[in-house]
Amino acid sequence: MKIVVNGAGGNMGKEVVRAVLAQEDMELCGAVDLNEVGKDVGEICGLGCLGVNVTSDLDYTLKRVQPQVVVDFTTPFVVMKNIETTMDNGVNLVVGTTGITNVDLEKVRLKAAEKGVQAVIAPNFALGAVMMMNFARQAARYFNNVEIIELHHDKKVDAPSGTALKTAEMILEQRETPPKSTVQELEKVPGVRGGEMGGINIHSVRLPGLIAHQEVIFGGVGQTLTIRHDSLNRTSFMPGVILAIRKLSSINGVVYGLENLL
Ligand code: NAD
Repeated sequence: MKIVVNGAGGNMGKEVVRAVLAQEDMELCGAVDLNEVGKDVGEICGLGCLGVNVTSDLDYTLKRVQPQVVVDFTTPFVVMKNIETTMDNGVNLVVGTTGITNVDLEKVRLKAAEKGVQAVIAPNFALGAVMMMNFARQAARYFNNVEIIELHHDKKVDAPSGTALKTAEMILEQRETPPKSTVQELEKVPGVRGGEMGGINIHSVRLPGLIAHQEVIFGGVGQTLTIRHDSLNRTSFMPGVILAIRKLSSINGVVYGLENLL
C-alpha cells in the first residue's frame, strides 16, 4: 500500500512515518509539510536517508506518486482543504487532525460519496481513549452530573480537544441534558467553570510536559466516578492509525471514530 503522510514534519506526522515504515505491506511514497521542504523525511525522523523528500504541495505530490492512502496530521486551519484535495484526486484518507465540526463532517461525507472514496476520521487513535469514551457513555446512564477535564501540551491550537467533544456527544446520546445547578454561581474569574456543551462543563488545560490526557468525572450522591486516560507517548496513537489504514478498503464512505472499526 502506497502512503503519503501530510504534516510529515510535525510531531504526529513523524510518528506516522516511523509506523508506516515498520509495516511490511506499506510503502511511504510521499511526505508533505510546509516546514522542512526539500529535506529527506527519514533524516527528519532520525531514521537516516530514505530517498523521500518533503514536498509542500499536496495536490502535486498526489498526482506524481499516486498513493492509495493519505494520512493527515496537520492543523485544524487546513485540514478541510487537505481532505478536499485528497478526495478530488480519488485517494482514500485517514485523518487524525482535530477541529473538524459536525458541519464539516457532513461536507466530507458528501464529498466522499461524490468521489467514491473512503475515509476514517478519528479525534483520538489511542485504544485506551476509545475505551475511556465508551466507559463514560456507559456511566452516563447512571450519573446525572459530569464534567470533563482534558489536558494537552501547550502547542495544541484547538480547544476543547476533539476527544472531549466526542466524549460529551457520546454522554449526551445516553440521556437528556444534565440538570442545571440550582446554585446561583458567582464566577470571579470569567470562564473559570469551563466551556459548556449540552450542559456538560469542559475544562481545557494546556501545559508543556503533557501529551494528551482526559478525565471524565461523574458525581452522584456521596460518590464520584473518575475515568481517566493518559497518552504518555505519541506511539500510543499508532496501532489505531495503522488499523485505520488497513480497514479503509473494507468500509463504505466516511467512518468517524476509531470505535466504529474495533
Ligand atoms: P504539529 O504542529 O507538531 O504538526 C503539524 C504539522 O502540519 C506541522 O509540521 C506543520 O508544518 C504541518 N502543516 C501545517 N499546515 C500544513 C499544510 N497546509 N500542508 C501540510 N502540512 C502542514 O502538530 P501535531 O502535534 O503533530 O498534531 C497534529 C494534529 O493532530 C492536531 O490537530 C492534533 O490535535 C491532532 N492529534 C490527533 C490525534 C489523534 O489521535 N487523532 C493525536 C494527537 C494529535
